[in-house]
Amino acid sequence: MIIVISDSATDAQVEQFVKNMEGRGLTAKAIHGDSKRVFGIVGDTGSIDAESLMRNDAIEKVMKVTAPYKLSGRSFHPDDTALSLLASADAGGPKIGGGFFAVAAGPCSVESEEQILTIAQDVKRSGAALLRGGAFKPRTSPFAFQGLGLDGLDLLKIARQKTGLGIVTEIMSTEHLGVFEKDVDIIQVGARNMQNFALLRELSVVGKPVLLKRGLSNTIDEMLQAADYVLSGGKASVILCERGIRTFETATRNTLDISAVPVLKNRSHLPVIVDPSHGTGYWDLVYPMSLAAVAAGADGLIIEVHDQPARALCDGQQSITPALFDSLMSRIGKVRAALN
Ligand code: PEP
Ligand code: MN
Repeated sequence: MIIVISDSATDAQVEQFVKNMEGRGLTAKAIHGDSKRVFGIVGDTGSIDAESLMRNDAIEKVMKVTAPYKLSGRSFHPDDTALSLLASADAGGPKIGGGFFAVAAGPCSVESEEQILTIAQDVKRSGAALLRGGAFKPRTSPFAFQGLGLDGLDLLKIARQKTGLGIVTEIMSTEHLGVFEKDVDIIQVGARNMQNFALLRELSVVGKPVLLKRGLSNTIDEMLQAADYVLSGGKASVILCERGIRTFETATRNTLDISAVPVLKNRSHLPVIVDPSHGTGYWDLVYPMSLAAVAAGADGLIIEVHDQPARALCDGQQSITPALFDSLMSRIGKVRAALN
């Protein structure tokens, strides 16, 4: 952390500031400039609140030089993390990150046994590693379909048993932690809960990977700090997911930030995936944006697929058909081969 002292600060004020830093176990090293008095603060500055420091009249500017995130950051973990997608998997089971690529596909919501089984079989045939499907849905309106809840989770388990696909589904409340830990392969934290710190902390002691979606209005730094919460308990691992952010643009549901992929890969060792379905909101944009995400270096994708999009109970307009998904998967293979 670099501190620039105000021109008007007295020597006594500066001395007091240096003592204050020493009292916190830090060292304030003077950097001699021509016109400005500047200090470099050395030590663990993580607990220092820059805004509070600025209340001191003697301080003109505070600049943080270390990233606010740690556990998810590359500086503490230079190598890419590769995660096993199935808790039960042997060494040859599906993985993501560290050169491994995986796709999760399925409906926005689990609607019926027939629906989830049909789609699960279709996406498995096309090469998906995981089946997605919401059982607990975070809907803007309380009158919209809220998901089948625990019954939906049971249907996902049947689909896993019949296809061998791992299941990824969203948790909304800490009351379901036990059942998710037992029954789900990857626990999804949705965009609306990315900064639900109580939920993140509880997930940190659950031994299951967490798919953490970027909040609608959150920065990349905030996302990585949210990932730190999940990693802080030492048991969970994290897959980061770019799913579009809110901007002034109305032509798409969200603005898919493809540049987040290389930025996240640069700053973090965690696997990074992209959700082009929520990222754009339109089925015909899912195909090109999936290819763009792969070309940008994503370790995987999560895609909404529905066998009857026009009849979907949720997000039919952004769901692609199994046939289009199949074509997309083979094109993804070609893009990956070209990159290699
Ligand atoms: C979802 O994946 O079904 C979902 C609700 O996504 P998000 O949290 O990104 O809106
Ligand atoms: Mn959806």
